This record gives sequence, C-alpha cells and structure tokens, in this order.
Amino acid sequence: MISIAIDGPSGAGKSTIAKAVSQKLGFIYVDTGALYRSIGLYVLNQGKDTANRQEVSSLLPEIELKIRYLDGVQRVYLNGQDVSEEIRKPPVSMAASNVSAHPEVREFLLNLQRQFAEEYNVVMDGRDIGTVVLPNADIKIFLTASSEERARRRYDELIQKGEQVQFDKIHKEIIERDYNDSHRAIAPLKQADDAILVDTTGCALEESIQKLETLIRSRMK
Ligand code: C5P
Repeated sequence: MISIAIDGPSGAGKSTIAKAVSQKLGFIYVDTGALYRSIGLYVLNQGKDTANRQEVSSLLPEIELKIRYLDGVQRVYLNGQDVSEEIRKPPVSMAASNVSAHPEVREFLLNLQRQFAEEYNVVMDGRDIGTVVLPNADIKIFLTASSEERARRRYDELIQKGEQVQFDKIHKEIIERDYNDSHRAIAPLKQADDAILVDTTGCALEESIQKLETLIRSRMK
C-alpha cells in the first residue's frame, strides 16, 4: 500500500488539497482532524472541560467512531450518528485542539488511523501523520501558508456557509490553535525531517493542487 502524509497548521488548505489529489490518484482520503473534532464535540455535548485530561479520558470508553465513504466523501459517525457537518462549527475547532493534547486521546485514535493505511492507498492529513502515525509513509508533505492567508480562507469558507464570523476573531483563533498544536508535549505539529515543505501563500487553490499532484507523481516513480 502507498501512503502519503500531509501535515501542516490549521487552514493551510490540507483537506481541500488532499481530497482533490487523492481523487486524481484514486486513493482514499483520510481527514484525521475529523476524528479529534468528533471527540471534542462529544466532550462539549457532555458539558465537560475539553482541556481537562481526566474528564476527557474518562469519557473515551463511551465513544465509538467510524469513518465511512459516501460517493468517495468521508463521513464520520460518532456513536452511530453522522456528525460530519456539526464538527465543522467554530467552537468545535478549539475543543478538538484541546482534546488532541491529551495522550489518551491520541492513543485512542492511533490504531484507527493506521488501519486505513494498512488496508488502502491513502492520502492522510493531520498534524502528526509523517512524524507519529505513519513514520514510514512513502511521501511526506508539510503544507503551510501565512496565518493571515489561512484566516482569510477559513473566514471566506464560513461566510459562504452562512456563519456570522469576524475576520480578526478567526485570525486570533488560528494563531492560538497553531500555538496549542505546536507546543503540546505529545505529537506536536512539526515538519518531519524527511517531509517536503510546500508554502501555498499567494497560490490559488487549483495551482496548489496541481503543484502537489506533480510533486507526488514525480516521487512515486
Ligand atoms: O485539521 P483540523 O483543523 O480539522 O483539526 C482539528 C484539530 O485536531 C487540530 O487543531 C489539532 O489540534 C487536532 N489534530 C491533531 N492531530 C491530527 C489532526 C488534527 O492533533 N492528526
């Protein structure tokens, strides 16, 4: 099986780009952030503190997560319920970032992620795919862009969905999440030594997809 790991900070375009590239290659796309988001959502719904390790880990035995593909699109089921849309709401982003810092949560999700790479050719995106989840991935890419540009993209996306959001708030959250994700003790966001750095600041989406596809195909030869 071939695995392609795409890591990088929030809003770098990982999921959109990884999804498009996986379709072109005929690979399965695995969005691992959706798993952390689902746990964050569950903890929020239980009225517990997402930053509290004890509270979060005691809820894990109650959680069953499943990923399914409908017409090639990933859907996530939390205890049998499709939460794919709900996990995209802004409060869930920070909840996901908080729960992802707890070692028990990372351990809980590790095998689920690895199983996909054992069974399918995958393009998997996240924060620690190239460093922890799939250290032997065939190709590793670290995708980034400036925080302003990443905030602008997320802002446009949420406005399009009809959410009422402010740019400055989104930008602040992106910076906060970057800090959280890269300073946690376990599996912090960082570029793997053997990952290729791709900066999409100033690149149109199509251009970034093309760039990555060309890069991946040249490495697969
Ligand atoms: O990628 P996305 O923004 O959906 O991820 C939500 C949060 O989940 C991230 O901010 C990060 O804290 C966490 N995450 C992680 N490891 C991954 C994927 C996501 O810690 N592999």
